Amino acid sequence: MNARLPLPPSLYADTAVAPVATPPLDGDKTVSVAIVGGGYTGLSTALHLAEQGVEALVLEAQEPGWGASGNNGGHTNPGLKHDPDQIEADFGADLGRRMIDFSYGTTNFTHELIRRYQIPCEARQNGTLRAAYNEASAAAIEKTAQQCIRRGMPVTYLNREQVREMTGTDRYIGAMLDARGGDLHPLSYARGLARAAISAGAKVHGETPALSLRRDGARWRIETPRAIVHAEKVLLATNGFTDDLWPALRRTIVPVFSSIAATAPLSDEVARSIMPTRPVLYESGHITVYYRIDQHNRLLMGGRGPMRWIKSPSDVAYLIRYAERLWPQIKGVAWTHGWNSRLAITKDHYPHVHEPAENILISLGCNGRGVALSTAMGAQLARRLIGGAKAEIDMPVTGIKPIPMHAFWPVGVTTAVIAGRVRDRLGI
Ligand SMILES: Cc1cc2nc3c(=O)[nH]c(=O)nc-3n(C[C@H](O)[C@H](O)[C@H](O)COP(=O)(O)OP(=O)(O)OC[C@H]3O[C@@H](n4cnc5c(N)ncnc54)[C@H](O)[C@@H]3O)c2cc1C
Repeated sequence: MNARLPLPPSLYADTAVAPVATPPLDGDKTVSVAIVGGGYTGLSTALHLAEQGVEALVLEAQEPGWGASGNNGGHTNPGLKHDPDQIEADFGADLGRRMIDFSYGTTNFTHELIRRYQIPCEARQNGTLRAAYNEASAAAIEKTAQQCIRRGMPVTYLNREQVREMTGTDRYIGAMLDARGGDLHPLSYARGLARAAISAGAKVHGETPALSLRRDGARWRIETPRAIVHAEKVLLATNGFTDDLWPALRRTIVPVFSSIAATAPLSDEVARSIMPTRPVLYESGHITVYYRIDQHNRLLMGGRGPMRWIKSPSDVAYLIRYAERLWPQIKGVAWTHGWNSRLAITKDHYPHVHEPAENILISLGCNGRGVALSTAMGAQLARRLIGGAKAEIDMPVTGIKPIPMHAFWPVGVTTAVIAGRVRDRLGI
Protein backbone atom coordinates (compact mmCIF):
# COMPACT_ATOMS: atom_id res chain seq x y z
CA MET A 1 0.00 0.00 0.00
CA ASN A 2 2.34 2.71 -1.17
CA ALA A 3 0.99 4.80 -4.03
CA ARG A 4 -2.08 6.83 -3.16
CA LEU A 5 -5.23 5.21 -4.51
CA PRO A 6 -8.26 7.21 -5.64
CA LEU A 7 -11.60 6.74 -3.89
CA PRO A 8 -13.80 4.04 -5.45
CA PRO A 9 -16.16 5.60 -8.07
CA SER A 10 -19.10 5.72 -5.68
CA LEU A 11 -22.16 7.92 -5.46
CA TYR A 12 -20.68 9.12 -2.18
CA ALA A 13 -17.42 10.30 -3.76
CA ASP A 14 -19.52 12.54 -6.04
CA THR A 15 -21.80 13.91 -3.35
CA ALA A 16 -19.93 14.01 -0.01
CA VAL A 17 -19.05 17.09 1.99
CA ALA A 18 -15.51 18.34 1.35
CA PRO A 19 -12.74 16.54 3.22
CA VAL A 20 -10.83 18.19 6.03
CA ALA A 21 -7.09 18.58 5.33
CA THR A 22 -5.14 15.51 6.44
CA PRO A 23 -1.62 16.05 5.11
CA PRO A 24 0.91 13.21 5.03
CA LEU A 25 3.08 12.91 8.11
CA ASP A 26 6.34 14.64 7.35
CA GLY A 27 8.48 14.60 10.47
CA ASP A 28 9.18 12.16 13.31
CA LYS A 29 6.67 12.17 16.17
CA THR A 30 6.40 10.82 19.69
CA VAL A 31 2.79 10.38 20.82
CA SER A 32 0.70 8.64 23.46
CA VAL A 33 -1.45 6.64 21.04
CA ALA A 34 -0.84 5.91 17.36
CA ILE A 35 -3.79 4.54 15.40
CA VAL A 36 -3.30 2.71 12.11
CA GLY A 37 -6.36 3.02 9.85
CA GLY A 38 -8.57 6.04 9.26
CA GLY A 39 -12.01 4.44 9.00
CA TYR A 40 -14.79 4.74 11.58
CA THR A 41 -12.90 2.53 14.06
CA GLY A 42 -9.70 4.54 13.99
CA LEU A 43 -11.34 7.97 13.73
CA SER A 44 -13.89 7.35 16.47
CA THR A 45 -11.19 6.04 18.80
CA ALA A 46 -9.08 9.13 18.06
CA LEU A 47 -12.06 11.37 18.78
CA HIS A 48 -12.84 9.65 22.08
CA LEU A 49 -9.19 9.77 23.14
CA ALA A 50 -8.91 13.44 22.23
CA GLU A 51 -12.11 14.21 24.14
CA GLN A 52 -10.30 12.96 27.22
CA GLY A 53 -7.17 14.94 26.53
CA VAL A 54 -5.12 11.98 25.24
CA GLU A 55 -2.83 12.71 22.33
CA ALA A 56 -3.86 10.52 19.38
CA LEU A 57 -2.33 10.33 15.92
CA VAL A 58 -4.09 8.53 13.05
CA LEU A 59 -2.04 7.10 10.19
CA GLU A 60 -4.20 6.41 7.12
CA ALA A 61 -2.64 4.91 3.99
CA GLN A 62 -5.04 6.73 1.62
CA GLU A 63 -7.52 9.25 3.00
CA PRO A 64 -10.01 9.07 5.89
CA GLY A 65 -13.00 7.00 4.77
CA TRP A 66 -11.18 5.48 1.79
CA GLY A 67 -11.90 1.93 3.01
CA ALA A 68 -15.26 0.37 3.88
CA SER A 69 -16.18 3.42 5.95
CA GLY A 70 -16.62 5.77 3.00
CA ASN A 71 -18.19 3.19 0.68
CA ASN A 72 -20.71 1.14 2.60
CA GLY A 73 -24.48 0.78 2.45
CA GLY A 74 -24.94 3.53 5.02
CA HIS A 75 -27.25 1.43 7.21
CA THR A 76 -26.91 1.93 10.94
CA ASN A 77 -28.01 -1.45 12.29
CA PRO A 78 -28.35 -2.34 15.96
CA GLY A 79 -26.95 -5.59 17.37
CA LEU A 80 -24.49 -8.23 16.27
CA LYS A 81 -24.89 -10.97 13.71
CA HIS A 82 -25.89 -13.48 16.40
CA ASP A 83 -29.14 -13.53 18.41
CA PRO A 84 -29.16 -12.18 21.97
CA ASP A 85 -29.72 -15.70 23.40
CA GLN A 86 -26.79 -17.01 21.36
CA ILE A 87 -24.54 -14.21 22.60
CA GLU A 88 -25.40 -15.04 26.22
CA ALA A 89 -24.86 -18.74 25.57
CA ASP A 90 -21.47 -18.04 23.96
CA PHE A 91 -20.15 -15.53 26.50
CA GLY A 92 -22.09 -16.16 29.72
CA ALA A 93 -24.64 -14.07 31.57
CA ASP A 94 -22.41 -11.14 32.54
CA LEU A 95 -20.28 -10.42 29.46
CA GLY A 96 -23.07 -11.69 27.19
CA ARG A 97 -25.55 -9.20 28.65
CA ARG A 98 -23.05 -6.35 28.38
CA MET A 99 -22.35 -7.27 24.75
CA ILE A 100 -26.09 -7.23 24.02
CA ASP A 101 -26.64 -3.85 25.72
CA PHE A 102 -23.61 -2.40 24.01
CA SER A 103 -24.26 -3.71 20.50
CA TYR A 104 -27.98 -2.91 20.45
CA GLY A 105 -27.12 0.55 21.79
CA THR A 106 -24.65 1.35 19.01
CA THR A 107 -27.12 3.09 16.70
CA ASN A 108 -28.43 5.46 19.36
CA PHE A 109 -24.81 6.11 20.34
CA THR A 110 -23.86 6.93 16.74
CA HIS A 111 -26.84 9.13 15.94
CA GLU A 112 -26.31 10.97 19.24
CA LEU A 113 -22.63 11.53 18.38
CA ILE A 114 -23.65 12.88 14.97
CA ARG A 115 -26.04 15.32 16.65
CA ARG A 116 -23.50 16.33 19.30
CA TYR A 117 -20.83 17.17 16.72
CA GLN A 118 -23.40 18.39 14.17
CA ILE A 119 -21.88 16.16 11.49
CA PRO A 120 -23.66 16.89 8.19
CA CYS A 121 -24.21 13.36 6.86
CA GLU A 122 -27.92 12.99 6.04
CA ALA A 123 -28.47 10.87 9.16
CA ARG A 124 -31.96 9.54 9.84
CA GLN A 125 -33.32 6.97 12.29
CA ASN A 126 -36.29 5.43 10.49
CA GLY A 127 -35.64 1.84 11.56
CA THR A 128 -33.97 -1.31 10.24
CA LEU A 129 -35.95 -4.14 8.65
CA ARG A 130 -34.48 -7.60 8.63
CA ALA A 131 -36.62 -9.44 6.10
CA ALA A 132 -37.20 -13.10 5.24
CA TYR A 133 -38.32 -14.59 1.96
CA ASN A 134 -38.56 -18.20 3.10
CA GLU A 135 -40.22 -19.97 5.99
CA ALA A 136 -37.00 -21.00 7.72
CA SER A 137 -35.61 -17.44 7.79
CA ALA A 138 -38.97 -16.02 8.85
CA ALA A 139 -39.10 -18.44 11.80
CA ALA A 140 -35.54 -17.51 12.78
CA ILE A 141 -36.26 -13.79 12.54
CA GLU A 142 -39.44 -14.14 14.58
CA LYS A 143 -37.40 -15.91 17.26
CA THR A 144 -34.84 -13.09 17.24
CA ALA A 145 -37.64 -10.53 17.53
CA GLN A 146 -39.11 -12.37 20.54
CA GLN A 147 -35.70 -12.41 22.23
CA CYS A 148 -35.36 -8.67 21.69
CA ILE A 149 -38.90 -7.92 22.85
CA ARG A 150 -38.31 -10.02 25.97
CA ARG A 151 -35.38 -7.73 26.74
CA GLY A 152 -37.51 -4.62 26.36
CA MET A 153 -36.13 -3.50 23.00
CA PRO A 154 -38.17 -1.37 20.54
CA VAL A 155 -38.63 -4.24 18.09
CA THR A 156 -41.72 -5.51 16.23
CA TYR A 157 -42.29 -8.62 14.13
CA LEU A 158 -44.14 -7.79 10.91
CA ASN A 159 -46.25 -10.25 8.95
CA ARG A 160 -46.35 -10.59 5.17
CA GLU A 161 -48.95 -7.86 4.67
CA GLN A 162 -47.15 -5.41 6.98
CA VAL A 163 -43.78 -5.92 5.24
CA ARG A 164 -45.44 -5.47 1.86
CA GLU A 165 -46.75 -2.09 3.04
CA MET A 166 -43.27 -1.04 4.12
CA THR A 167 -41.39 -2.34 1.06
CA GLY A 168 -43.78 -2.28 -1.89
CA THR A 169 -42.96 -5.88 -2.78
CA ASP A 170 -44.50 -9.22 -1.88
CA ARG A 171 -41.12 -10.96 -1.84
CA TYR A 172 -41.07 -11.16 1.97
CA ILE A 173 -43.09 -13.30 4.30
CA GLY A 174 -41.97 -11.65 7.52
CA ALA A 175 -39.56 -9.11 8.96
CA MET A 176 -38.27 -7.67 12.18
CA LEU A 177 -38.43 -3.90 12.50
CA ASP A 178 -35.97 -2.35 14.94
CA ALA A 179 -36.86 1.30 15.51
CA ARG A 180 -33.28 2.18 16.48
CA GLY A 181 -31.85 1.55 12.99
CA GLY A 182 -31.29 4.22 10.39
CA ASP A 183 -29.02 5.47 7.65
CA LEU A 184 -26.46 8.11 6.75
CA HIS A 185 -24.12 9.26 3.99
CA PRO A 186 -21.05 7.10 4.74
CA LEU A 187 -18.29 9.28 3.27
CA SER A 188 -19.71 12.52 4.65
CA TYR A 189 -19.90 10.79 8.01
CA ALA A 190 -16.28 9.56 7.83
CA ARG A 191 -15.11 13.03 6.85
CA GLY A 192 -17.21 14.57 9.62
CA LEU A 193 -15.71 12.17 12.15
CA ALA A 194 -12.21 13.13 10.96
CA ARG A 195 -13.10 16.80 11.33
CA ALA A 196 -14.54 16.24 14.81
CA ALA A 197 -11.46 14.27 15.89
CA ILE A 198 -9.12 16.98 14.61
CA SER A 199 -11.12 19.77 16.29
CA ALA A 200 -10.97 17.81 19.54
CA GLY A 201 -7.16 17.75 19.27
CA ALA A 202 -6.30 14.52 17.40
CA LYS A 203 -3.89 14.49 14.48
CA VAL A 204 -4.97 12.70 11.30
CA HIS A 205 -2.53 12.03 8.47
CA GLY A 206 -3.62 10.73 5.07
CA GLU A 207 -1.30 9.19 2.49
CA THR A 208 0.70 7.81 5.39
CA PRO A 209 0.82 4.01 5.38
CA ALA A 210 2.32 2.30 8.39
CA LEU A 211 5.05 0.18 6.83
CA SER A 212 6.36 -1.66 9.86
CA LEU A 213 5.71 -1.91 13.57
CA ARG A 214 8.17 -3.02 16.23
CA ARG A 215 9.17 -2.47 19.82
CA ASP A 216 11.80 0.16 20.49
CA GLY A 217 12.62 0.32 24.18
CA ALA A 218 9.53 1.26 26.17
CA ARG A 219 7.66 2.44 23.09
CA TRP A 220 6.40 1.08 19.77
CA ARG A 221 8.05 2.29 16.60
CA ILE A 222 6.05 2.71 13.39
CA GLU A 223 7.82 3.38 10.15
CA THR A 224 6.01 5.48 7.53
CA PRO A 225 7.38 6.64 4.15
CA ARG A 226 8.67 9.98 5.43
CA ALA A 227 8.68 9.76 9.23
CA ILE A 228 9.02 7.51 12.24
CA VAL A 229 6.33 7.51 14.92
CA HIS A 230 7.13 6.47 18.48
CA ALA A 231 4.03 5.66 20.47
CA GLU A 232 3.32 4.42 23.97
CA LYS A 233 0.30 2.53 22.68
CA VAL A 234 -0.89 1.45 19.25
CA LEU A 235 -4.32 0.59 17.89
CA LEU A 236 -4.57 -1.34 14.64
CA ALA A 237 -7.89 -0.56 12.92
CA THR A 238 -7.31 -1.80 9.38
CA ASN A 239 -10.30 -4.19 9.06
CA GLY A 240 -10.73 -5.59 5.51
CA PHE A 241 -7.41 -4.00 4.46
CA THR A 242 -5.36 -5.68 7.16
CA ASP A 243 -1.86 -6.43 5.93
CA ASP A 244 1.17 -8.02 7.56
CA LEU A 245 1.85 -5.29 10.11
CA TRP A 246 1.06 -7.73 12.93
CA PRO A 247 2.03 -11.40 12.49
CA ALA A 248 -0.84 -13.68 11.46
CA LEU A 249 -3.51 -10.99 11.89
CA ARG A 250 -4.35 -11.06 8.19
CA ARG A 251 -5.18 -14.74 8.53
CA THR A 252 -7.83 -14.15 11.25
CA ILE A 253 -10.27 -12.56 8.79
CA VAL A 254 -11.58 -13.15 5.31
CA PRO A 255 -11.61 -9.90 3.35
CA VAL A 256 -14.77 -9.93 1.25
CA PHE A 257 -15.95 -7.42 -1.33
CA SER A 258 -19.48 -6.11 -1.09
CA SER A 259 -20.98 -4.08 -3.95
CA ILE A 260 -23.55 -1.34 -4.31
CA ALA A 261 -25.47 0.05 -7.29
CA ALA A 262 -27.29 3.39 -7.10
CA THR A 263 -30.05 4.85 -9.28
CA ALA A 264 -30.63 8.43 -10.31
CA PRO A 265 -33.25 10.09 -8.05
CA LEU A 266 -36.61 8.33 -8.42
CA SER A 267 -39.81 10.30 -8.74
CA ASP A 268 -41.55 10.91 -5.40
CA GLU A 269 -44.32 8.58 -6.47
CA VAL A 270 -42.01 5.66 -7.31
CA ALA A 271 -39.88 6.20 -4.20
CA ARG A 272 -43.03 6.19 -2.06
CA SER A 273 -44.24 3.00 -3.74
CA ILE A 274 -41.05 1.26 -2.59
CA MET A 275 -40.41 2.47 0.93
CA PRO A 276 -42.86 5.14 2.05
CA THR A 277 -41.37 5.49 5.55
CA ARG A 278 -37.69 5.13 4.52
CA PRO A 279 -36.37 2.42 6.79
CA VAL A 280 -33.32 0.44 5.65
CA LEU A 281 -33.63 -3.25 4.85
CA TYR A 282 -31.37 -6.24 4.76
CA GLU A 283 -32.44 -9.70 3.75
CA SER A 284 -31.75 -12.79 5.68
CA GLY A 285 -30.60 -15.06 2.87
CA HIS A 286 -27.74 -16.99 1.38
CA ILE A 287 -26.32 -13.74 0.07
CA THR A 288 -27.29 -10.68 2.01
CA VAL A 289 -29.01 -8.10 -0.14
CA TYR A 290 -29.47 -4.72 1.50
CA TYR A 291 -31.08 -1.52 0.31
CA ARG A 292 -32.40 1.89 1.19
CA ILE A 293 -33.71 5.03 -0.48
CA ASP A 294 -31.56 8.01 0.38
CA GLN A 295 -32.67 11.57 1.11
CA HIS A 296 -32.52 12.37 -2.62
CA ASN A 297 -34.80 9.48 -3.60
CA ARG A 298 -31.97 7.37 -4.97
CA LEU A 299 -32.31 3.62 -4.51
CA LEU A 300 -29.08 2.07 -3.25
CA MET A 301 -28.99 -1.72 -3.71
CA GLY A 302 -26.18 -3.61 -2.03
CA GLY A 303 -25.02 -7.19 -1.99
CA ARG A 304 -22.30 -9.55 -3.00
CA GLY A 305 -20.65 -8.85 -6.35
CA PRO A 306 -17.36 -9.70 -7.99
CA MET A 307 -14.44 -10.44 -5.66
CA ARG A 308 -12.36 -7.71 -7.35
CA TRP A 309 -12.59 -3.93 -7.61
CA ILE A 310 -15.45 -2.76 -9.85
CA LYS A 311 -16.17 0.51 -11.61
CA SER A 312 -19.72 0.69 -12.91
CA PRO A 313 -23.29 -0.52 -12.41
CA SER A 314 -22.81 -3.02 -15.25
CA ASP A 315 -20.40 -4.89 -12.96
CA VAL A 316 -23.30 -5.64 -10.62
CA ALA A 317 -26.04 -6.35 -13.13
CA TYR A 318 -27.28 -9.06 -10.75
CA LEU A 319 -28.30 -6.44 -8.16
CA ILE A 320 -30.06 -4.36 -10.78
CA ARG A 321 -32.01 -7.33 -12.12
CA TYR A 322 -32.91 -8.24 -8.57
CA ALA A 323 -34.19 -4.71 -7.85
CA GLU A 324 -36.27 -4.75 -11.04
CA ARG A 325 -37.75 -8.05 -9.98
CA LEU A 326 -38.76 -6.57 -6.61
CA TRP A 327 -40.21 -3.36 -8.09
CA PRO A 328 -41.03 -3.63 -11.82
CA GLN A 329 -41.97 0.08 -11.76
CA ILE A 330 -38.27 1.06 -11.69
CA LYS A 331 -37.48 -0.54 -15.07
CA GLY A 332 -35.94 2.13 -17.29
CA VAL A 333 -34.58 4.18 -14.38
CA ALA A 334 -30.90 5.09 -14.84
CA TRP A 335 -28.33 3.35 -12.64
CA THR A 336 -25.60 5.94 -12.25
CA HIS A 337 -23.00 4.31 -9.99
CA GLY A 338 -21.64 0.87 -9.18
CA TRP A 339 -18.78 0.41 -6.72
CA ASN A 340 -17.52 -1.83 -3.96
CA SER A 341 -15.14 -2.11 -1.05
CA ARG A 342 -13.80 -4.71 1.31
CA LEU A 343 -15.04 -5.74 4.72
CA ALA A 344 -13.69 -8.29 7.16
CA ILE A 345 -15.53 -11.48 8.02
CA THR A 346 -14.45 -13.53 11.04
CA LYS A 347 -14.94 -17.26 11.37
CA ASP A 348 -17.23 -16.97 14.41
CA HIS A 349 -19.01 -13.90 12.97
CA TYR A 350 -18.21 -11.86 16.08
CA PRO A 351 -16.09 -8.69 15.92
CA HIS A 352 -12.61 -9.36 17.30
CA VAL A 353 -10.60 -7.35 19.80
CA HIS A 354 -7.05 -8.55 20.47
CA GLU A 355 -4.25 -7.46 22.75
CA PRO A 356 -1.35 -9.58 21.48
CA ALA A 357 1.34 -7.63 23.33
CA GLU A 358 1.51 -4.97 25.98
CA ASN A 359 0.13 -1.69 24.68
CA ILE A 360 -1.02 -3.10 21.35
CA LEU A 361 -4.76 -3.17 20.76
CA ILE A 362 -6.45 -4.49 17.62
CA SER A 363 -10.09 -4.22 16.59
CA LEU A 364 -11.48 -5.69 13.39
CA GLY A 365 -14.13 -7.91 11.84
CA CYS A 366 -17.43 -6.08 12.03
CA ASN A 367 -18.86 -8.66 9.62
CA GLY A 368 -20.70 -6.19 7.44
CA ARG A 369 -22.36 -4.26 10.21
CA GLY A 370 -19.71 -1.81 11.30
CA VAL A 371 -21.18 1.65 10.70
CA ALA A 372 -22.66 2.04 14.16
CA LEU A 373 -20.65 -0.76 15.76
CA SER A 374 -17.22 0.62 14.80
CA THR A 375 -18.26 4.09 15.90
CA ALA A 376 -19.33 2.86 19.31
CA MET A 377 -16.31 0.54 19.53
CA GLY A 378 -14.20 3.68 19.29
CA ALA A 379 -15.36 4.76 22.75
CA GLN A 380 -14.68 1.28 24.17
CA LEU A 381 -11.23 1.10 22.59
CA ALA A 382 -10.36 4.57 23.89
CA ARG A 383 -11.38 3.41 27.38
CA ARG A 384 -9.14 0.35 27.06
CA LEU A 385 -6.22 2.36 25.71
CA ILE A 386 -6.46 4.81 28.59
CA GLY A 387 -7.12 2.26 31.32
CA GLY A 388 -4.94 -0.60 30.04
CA ALA A 389 -5.83 -4.26 30.38
CA LYS A 390 -7.71 -3.52 33.62
CA ALA A 391 -10.29 -1.38 31.82
CA GLU A 392 -13.16 -3.73 31.16
CA ILE A 393 -14.89 -3.29 27.84
CA ASP A 394 -18.18 -4.71 26.62
CA MET A 395 -16.63 -7.05 24.07
CA PRO A 396 -14.38 -10.05 24.65
CA VAL A 397 -10.63 -9.54 24.25
CA THR A 398 -9.38 -12.73 22.63
CA GLY A 399 -6.15 -14.28 21.36
CA ILE A 400 -5.18 -14.12 17.69
CA LYS A 401 -6.31 -17.38 16.07
CA PRO A 402 -5.55 -17.68 12.37
CA ILE A 403 -8.26 -19.43 10.37
CA PRO A 404 -7.04 -22.92 9.44
CA MET A 405 -6.36 -23.33 5.71
CA HIS A 406 -6.80 -19.56 5.34
CA ALA A 407 -5.07 -19.49 1.96
CA PHE A 408 -8.00 -21.41 0.50
CA TRP A 409 -10.72 -19.21 1.95
CA PRO A 410 -11.18 -16.63 -0.79
CA VAL A 411 -11.94 -19.42 -3.24
CA GLY A 412 -14.26 -20.98 -0.68
CA VAL A 413 -16.06 -17.69 -0.15
CA THR A 414 -16.45 -17.14 -3.87
CA THR A 415 -17.89 -20.61 -4.27
CA ALA A 416 -20.31 -20.02 -1.42
CA VAL A 417 -21.44 -16.77 -3.01
CA ILE A 418 -21.99 -18.44 -6.35
CA ALA A 419 -23.84 -21.35 -4.76
CA GLY A 420 -25.93 -18.86 -2.79
CA ARG A 421 -26.76 -16.94 -5.92
CA VAL A 422 -28.02 -20.08 -7.60
CA ARG A 423 -30.12 -20.96 -4.56
CA ASP A 424 -31.48 -17.41 -4.36
CA ARG A 425 -32.48 -17.52 -7.99
CA LEU A 426 -34.39 -20.70 -7.34
CA GLY A 427 -35.99 -18.97 -4.37
CA ILE A 428 -35.13 -21.76 -1.92
C1 LIG B 1 -19.81 -2.29 0.34
C2 LIG B 1 -19.95 -2.36 1.83
C3 LIG B 1 -21.20 -2.15 2.38
C4 LIG B 1 -21.36 -2.16 3.77
N1 LIG B 1 -22.57 -1.82 4.28
C5 LIG B 1 -22.71 -1.67 5.61
C6 LIG B 1 -23.92 -1.16 6.14
O1 LIG B 1 -24.82 -0.79 5.42
N2 LIG B 1 -24.01 -1.08 7.49
C7 LIG B 1 -23.00 -1.45 8.33
O2 LIG B 1 -23.15 -1.35 9.55
N3 LIG B 1 -21.82 -1.87 7.84
C8 LIG B 1 -21.65 -1.97 6.51
N4 LIG B 1 -20.44 -2.36 6.00
C9 LIG B 1 -19.32 -2.59 6.93
C10 LIG B 1 -18.72 -1.28 7.41
O3 LIG B 1 -18.53 -0.40 6.34
C11 LIG B 1 -17.39 -1.59 8.10
O4 LIG B 1 -17.62 -2.53 9.13
C12 LIG B 1 -16.75 -0.36 8.72
O5 LIG B 1 -16.70 0.71 7.83
C13 LIG B 1 -15.36 -0.73 9.18
O6 LIG B 1 -14.66 0.42 9.57
P1 LIG B 1 -13.13 0.31 9.90
O7 LIG B 1 -12.67 1.64 10.32
O8 LIG B 1 -12.91 -0.80 10.87
O9 LIG B 1 -12.44 -0.16 8.53
P2 LIG B 1 -12.22 0.64 7.15
O10 LIG B 1 -13.17 1.73 6.97
O11 LIG B 1 -12.09 -0.37 6.07
O12 LIG B 1 -10.81 1.35 7.40
C14 LIG B 1 -9.59 0.66 7.40
C15 LIG B 1 -8.55 1.66 6.92
O13 LIG B 1 -7.26 1.16 7.21
C16 LIG B 1 -6.38 1.68 6.23
N5 LIG B 1 -5.15 0.88 6.27
C17 LIG B 1 -4.99 -0.44 6.06
N6 LIG B 1 -3.70 -0.79 6.23
C18 LIG B 1 -3.03 0.33 6.59
C19 LIG B 1 -1.67 0.61 6.91
N7 LIG B 1 -0.74 -0.34 6.93
N8 LIG B 1 -1.34 1.89 7.23
C20 LIG B 1 -2.28 2.88 7.25
N9 LIG B 1 -3.58 2.65 6.94
C21 LIG B 1 -3.96 1.40 6.63
C22 LIG B 1 -7.17 1.55 4.93
O14 LIG B 1 -6.69 2.43 3.94
C23 LIG B 1 -8.59 1.89 5.40
O15 LIG B 1 -8.94 3.25 5.16
C24 LIG B 1 -20.26 -2.42 4.62
C25 LIG B 1 -19.00 -2.66 4.06
C26 LIG B 1 -18.83 -2.63 2.68
C27 LIG B 1 -17.49 -2.86 2.09
